[in-house]
Amino acid sequence: MRIKADTEVCIGAGMCVLTAAKVFDQSEDDGTVVVLEPEPPVDQEAAVRRAVQVCPSGALSIS
Ligand code: SF4
Repeated sequence: MRIKADTEVCIGAGMCVLTAAKVFDQSEDDGTVVVLEPEPPVDQEAAVRRAVQVCPSGALSIS
């Protein structure tokens, strides 16, 4: 799994961080998403899929 995050689209809602804290963080500057693990370990994949679903701006995608 590989995560793509579009920081132009991200509104800094932080849902991804709440859902998968080991994989996502937020920029201290503007609150937009920072992907800590672009290729997350298998045990994080379910949480990442949930994060993609709950992101209100559609900034996250996985391939
Ligand atoms: S949930 Fe979506 S909008 Fe919110 S910080 Fe994460 S990527 Fe950005």
